[in-house]
Amino acid sequence: MVVGWFSYMPGVFDNSIVTQIQQANDIVDIISEHVALKRKGREMVGLCPFHDDHRPSMNVSPAKQIFKCFACGAGGDVFKFIQMRENLTFPQAIERLANRAGIRLPTPNRKSQTNRQSETDNLQSVDTNELARVNAWAAKYFQKNLNDKEKGKFARDYLAQRKVTSESIKKWQLGLAACPQGNDSPDDLFRAARARKIPAKLLEYAGLITNQNQDLSAVRVADKFVNRLMFTITDVTGRVIGFGGRTLSEQGAKYINSPTTALFDKSNSLYGLEHARHQIVSTDTAVVVEGYTDCIMAHQFGCSNVVAAMGTSFTAGQGRLLRRYAKKVILLFDSDAAGIEAANRALEVCLSQRIDIKLAFVPQGKDPCDFLLANGKEKFQYLLDNAVDVLQFKWNRLTEKFSSDDTLAGRKAAIDEYLQAIATGLYAGSLNTIEGGLLINRLSGIIGLDNRQVTAELRKKVTTAARAAAYDVQKPPVDLSAVRMADLGEGLSATAQREILEVLLNEPKLFKTVKKKVSPAVSLSNLIEHFDVLVLRDIASVLFETLTSNPAPELTEILAKTESPQVSSCITQLQADGEQKGNFETRLRDAVDVLLSCHARRAIDLSRAQSRGQLKSKQDANKYLKSVTESARKENRRNIGMT
Ligand SMILES: [Zn+2]
Repeated sequence: MVVGWFSYMPGVFDNSIVTQIQQANDIVDIISEHVALKRKGREMVGLCPFHDDHRPSMNVSPAKQIFKCFACGAGGDVFKFIQMRENLTFPQAIERLANRAGIRLPTPNRKSQTNRQSETDNLQSVDTNELARVNAWAAKYFQKNLNDKEKGKFARDYLAQRKVTSESIKKWQLGLAACPQGNDSPDDLFRAARARKIPAKLLEYAGLITNQNQDLSAVRVADKFVNRLMFTITDVTGRVIGFGGRTLSEQGAKYINSPTTALFDKSNSLYGLEHARHQIVSTDTAVVVEGYTDCIMAHQFGCSNVVAAMGTSFTAGQGRLLRRYAKKVILLFDSDAAGIEAANRALEVCLSQRIDIKLAFVPQGKDPCDFLLANGKEKFQYLLDNAVDVLQFKWNRLTEKFSSDDTLAGRKAAIDEYLQAIATGLYAGSLNTIEGGLLINRLSGIIGLDNRQVTAELRKKVTTAARAAAYDVQKPPVDLSAVRMADLGEGLSATAQREILEVLLNEPKLFKTVKKKVSPAVSLSNLIEHFDVLVLRDIASVLFETLTSNPAPELTEILAKTESPQVSSCITQLQADGEQKGNFETRLRDAVDVLLSCHARRAIDLSRAQSRGQLKSKQDANKYLKSVTESARKENRRNIGMT
């Protein structure tokens, strides 16, 4: 029987277990994994990961266990944060945080298991929790191979020769993708997975196997990684999201990575962030190296604010990721020509991301790993301490070109490159006009051109940079339509609806005032019907239901009952608005009166019209209702109780 792969039931979980999971996952801990938070009064603030934030707009309340971004409106409890951050559904977020806290969720019945199985056959609905589980299993399997006395010997010898300690091997979950001897179909992992009844489709979605045959009826699969030393790639929370493999046979590419999956996107991930995060935050500096072993060795030598870019040149996505933890980034490159080219590309990224970026190069054509082994931590630290500023680096390149290359084309290219860097910096705001002016002075000095000519050239480049930035509109980390505020309605009745919710979210005990005011005229469920703004009605029904069973609920209890990030963002918005306005009792009384009378008036208008025989059909009735609502909207746009 398949146990473990589809073991959790999607859908509604018991409230008590949801509360238990919520309490076991402190929102400050969870959000700190993704954003550096600083204390500000009773709250914590940080850069919002849901919009392109350049000042800390996200507030996290440890007391209320909620977050709220005052710029984009995203808000909610710990589940909504994870849902939005990792693109999960509500049940997936619950499962994710339950796993994190080591809380077992109830196992499902058989039927839902089969449903999940067929769901997994469809790439659209592939569950990232399941991918993470299959990856974690594979990581364990690779580690077992490496520890195997015979199978793992060659790889262990290689690591020993590279001076990777056994502590590091364990900490970084290094492993081995074996190559079964006397077997020409490389499917070591696949066979082990089959023995565990892990569906082939799941392995394929995780990028662990490839199907050699396009015809799915005759499956002929091969492992993606064969005879390679395996680097386990985790995200900042420690979830296994992918793998990197270094060849042990000198066959094929030296390094290959997992393909892009629902869980893994190389250009938005950094190797080692899980282990480096704390040190990055506390030193306000992140060091980025190129290779896996460079990163591992740096940590082994006690430089634990180092991450690796996994063989890509530093991307905008990686820049955005780091920006939330530290203001300063040092890119450390091998000093070969490829390193300098990579550095050049990385500069554009960093200047446009307003990251304070410095560059360092390892001398003597070594990589950081070899350099550390040969020279030790202090010399390594010295390299980092002497990292040069981006523009200084460009300036050095320029003057070097001028002294060594006297061809017009060579000089022009160097000037262009330098101007481009200034333009990008000016456009992105990482340089101010005064700094820009000083740099231009310096430049016109060396090239013997008039300041004005250089400025004109620069202006052209700034325009181009602006155009490039507009073209390179970043893909938001989440579907922002889910975060964007829902339509909260306009007009008197909608305002009354909002006011009632604003007050009750802050002063739940005033619910009895509502009950007293509405009965016996209307029942509570009837009152909910009076909420004609869709999202407000959703909130009212959750809120009233909660208040009926618990007269003093925490905000998190209400948030945990809403699945949609959009609704939860509205709840935190209403709560914050209400808190600011105060004057709860009066506002609530007025708002209930207004809501009841708006509703009554609409009913009277409707029945009058009907009795005059104006409305022949349902369509007419709807049209009429709309016109009545419109006129009410024009009447009063101001807040009740605030006038
Ligand atoms: Zn935001």
